[in-house]
Amino acid sequence: MALAVTSSSTAISGTSFSRLGSSIDPKAPQIRSLRLSDRTHVAASSVVHMSQRRSSLKRSESVVPRAATISASPEVEEKVAVEDFGQLAKELNNASPLEIMDKALEKFGNDIAIAFSGAEDVALIEYARLTGRPFRVFSLDTGRLNPETYRFFDAVEKHYGIRIEYMFPDAVEVQGLVRSKGLFSFYEDGHQECCRVRKVRPLRRALKGLRAWITGQRKDQSPGTRSEIPVVQVDPVFEGMDGGIGSLVKWNPVANVDGGDVWNFLRTMDVPVNSLHAQGYVSIGCEPCTRAVLPGQHEREGRWWWEDAKAKECGLHKGNIKENVNGDSGDNHGKSPVVEDIFESKNLVTLSRAGIENLMKLENRKEPWIVVLYAPWCPFCQAMEESYVELAEKLAGKGVKVAKFRADGDQKEFAKKELQLGSFPTILLFPKSASKPIKYPSEKRDVDALTSFVNLLR
Ligand code: SF4
Repeated sequence: MALAVTSSSTAISGTSFSRLGSSIDPKAPQIRSLRLSDRTHVAASSVVHMSQRRSSLKRSESVVPRAATISASPEVEEKVAVEDFGQLAKELNNASPLEIMDKALEKFGNDIAIAFSGAEDVALIEYARLTGRPFRVFSLDTGRLNPETYRFFDAVEKHYGIRIEYMFPDAVEVQGLVRSKGLFSFYEDGHQECCRVRKVRPLRRALKGLRAWITGQRKDQSPGTRSEIPVVQVDPVFEGMDGGIGSLVKWNPVANVDGGDVWNFLRTMDVPVNSLHAQGYVSIGCEPCTRAVLPGQHEREGRWWWEDAKAKECGLHKGNIKENVNGDSGDNHGKSPVVEDIFESKNLVTLSRAGIENLMKLENRKEPWIVVLYAPWCPFCQAMEESYVELAEKLAGKGVKVAKFRADGDQKEFAKKELQLGSFPTILLFPKSASKPIKYPSEKRDVDALTSFVNLLR
């Protein structure tokens, strides 16, 4: 299997890493073909045995002009190094994004690239520039981005004097999807299939030409699904150029930075930003699947808003979804393991199956009820435990009952059929004078948001 780009290739194919520069400037130098067989095979768990190859590429051979100064030795030097990235993540946990970026670029040279989404992760490019090291940037052009995002890509290329290495979806796959299901099938049967074709597979191809990548993932972007991101890790999902598990390293230099600080940094450094941000967009993806959010709404509420929170990863970063104690991501295959119960409070009513069935039957209740359908092993339920217990305290004696119903295991089918359970946790409000419960539609599960929901609909 050859490294993505050959000296004669400018086309995009199942194994090629696109080189926009070559079509713009026919004199632009090309990356040479390198063969996988040149490399030591990699195996990995948390400790990765890496084939540390000093790239034979000089920076002047890259299509990325600013990257044309990579200081790699002209000789190909093979040496096997053992790197414990779990340990490195601990060591770098309190390091600044700049230090982490510098370490990543230093370690991987021309075999690492920044994944740029066209949003505030432009901060990564700025950090890379500040290191003074050469760097590469790639992006996924799904064909469904906003015009503003394309203009932003252009502005970033000009500002930094770089060429972004765009990856495009396979035309035949897109054609098959659109011809069979239409242009907006994701609104009907979920975004996964379209994302797989337009994002995940192109990303997979891009990563097969690298040994490491750099993402703009942050813990605060999605408290449910991104709370466990280390600053560096062996990629749990994708493979790098050496193939196999452990052949790719993922760097997340801003994992511990909050969104506000990223924006302070962008403003201070006077970095170009996507004009959609000025229209209320925070997290930016494809045009049909991204919308502006209101003040106070979580940024991920602007993405795939018609779906449950747990499904809101496009597949690019699935490996960072926090796993429960049994090693799955929430479904638990119908089993009810013995784990400590959660939502323990004297102010909370524990509903049995009969109890919640009675609640459903009542047309006129004496008081409204808010009920969480939960599974104690579910990390998303665990994450909201504190705020829900606080809500119960706050509403105690105020004419609203706060309750919980364990809906995994044997109760799961019933809860799915009768109680709108999509994923854990599902929160329902049973108003005083309506038999049908109202499902809480947001990922924001803090006390204030839940209180507003109760007070507006009770
Ligand atoms: Fe398709 Fe939407 Fe995913 Fe873009 S974000 S690839 S349009 S489903």
